[in-house]
Amino acid sequence: MKRTKIVEALKYAERGIEVNVKGWVRTRRGGKQVCFIALNDGSTIHNIQVVAAVGQIEDELLKSITTGACISVDGILVDSQGQGQQVEIQATHITVYGTADPDTYPLQKKGHSLEFLREIAHLRGRTNTFGAVFRLRHHLAFAIHKFFHDRGFFYFHTPIITASDCEGAGQMFRVTTLEQGMEQTGDGTISFDNDFFGKQANLTVSGQLEGETAALALGAIYTFGPTFRAENSNTPRHLAEFWMIEPEVAFNEIEENMQLAEDFIKYCIQWALDNCPDDLRFLNDHYDAELIERLQSVAKDDFVRLSYTEGIAILEQAIAHGYKFEFPVFWGTDLSAEHERYLVEEHFHSPVILTNYPKEIKAFYMKLNEDGKTVRAMDVLFPKIGEIIGGSQREENYDKLSARIRELGIPAKDIWWYLDTRRFGAAPHSGFGLGFERLLLFVTGMNNIRDVIPFPRTPRNADF
Ligand code: ATP
Ligand code: MN
Repeated sequence: MKRTKIVEALKYAERGIEVNVKGWVRTRRGGKQVCFIALNDGSTIHNIQVVAAVGQIEDELLKSITTGACISVDGILVDSQGQGQQVEIQATHITVYGTADPDTYPLQKKGHSLEFLREIAHLRGRTNTFGAVFRLRHHLAFAIHKFFHDRGFFYFHTPIITASDCEGAGQMFRVTTLEQGMEQTGDGTISFDNDFFGKQANLTVSGQLEGETAALALGAIYTFGPTFRAENSNTPRHLAEFWMIEPEVAFNEIEENMQLAEDFIKYCIQWALDNCPDDLRFLNDHYDAELIERLQSVAKDDFVRLSYTEGIAILEQAIAHGYKFEFPVFWGTDLSAEHERYLVEEHFHSPVILTNYPKEIKAFYMKLNEDGKTVRAMDVLFPKIGEIIGGSQREENYDKLSARIRELGIPAKDIWWYLDTRRFGAAPHSGFGLGFERLLLFVTGMNNIRDVIPFPRTPRNADF
């Protein structure tokens, strides 16, 4: 018999038909005459109830069907006698694919802590929570491709191994095949002559610079791939390996960039609301009672837009009124998450797009404003998350950009190709980066970024 996914079987209107379902046993309650099996196959958060009557199904076989076992059930779809479900399956035949020893299978009871589940990341997808999170992860990835595809953006693949080191060396992971450690040259520096690429290579921290070259050829592109940062920040919002989406658009100025970011995030959130109602309902009921309400309000209301300078003034006012921050606030400082969250959660009660940051705290490629002090940066700040998007209009002026590159001591041998885009057919252009896991944190209501990626990589942790 052809297998029916449980998500489909639960929707069937017919009764009395034969079906086959396959899945993993969540619970088994047994009476002497009948036993009830809650079966889940990952296609939905809902289980289907299988009723196995002693006499129909062999006793020995029934005994081996414990929590975690994988079984195939043939049976008749009937109206459920019990509460909590519309249909159930009266089993006529069961095959056990794989048993799960009750003494050692770790997912016995409900209510394991998220910390414990991280230690069994290879099995946690079988819980309601992680089933919901990973299904949402899929649906949001799909929504991202759909959003850009529908708007004529091209999905562009930027390299994961890169020899350019423009965003700050300290944060990069080195890629090498040298076994004996690094060879020293005469002056004590490291020689990469014998290394695989003949020069120092790293894992990428961002596909943006290559993405810009593509925007200036294809018009509008986006990347969606893994990025790597060796920053030693053990926070609930940082991973060493995370996925980033980076659209880059020729002819867009900062205002259009902001609008794109706002439309994009709202589209993703609305997509989740429309396509994952059951998973969101579960997360709402078990983790975050305001989740769905928060998603609906963010999908609907306009984001607040204000300048960094205005943001600093609001924070200074808060301090004057007695509000305490851990880190100091002054014009020129990089905002920390507590500052960002104050603006969003305490002051505006809405996502905020902060623009025109001091050039010193932003990357070299951002377009300098007429004041000579600020750049056309835009960070999108979200409730519970802080920064979810960082972006900017790019400096397209060759002289200004090369002056900044010299000022910061970025070697010409690494950056010549990027500068070429400003020598040949330069155009105004803008883009941004969205951290996929930060979006997932927001949409799922989870509090720790380790719980929205299947196998998190963080300092001192690369298990599985
Ligand atoms: P933060 O200040 O929060 O560390 P950032 O300014 O270093 O972030 P960007 O370089 O602007 O980050 O990267 C773009 C986006 O990528 C961020 O807005 C964020 O959503 C995401 N991001 C950055 N670093 C991480 C990380 N270590 N783990 C997960 N997501 C990240
Ligand atoms: Mn940023």
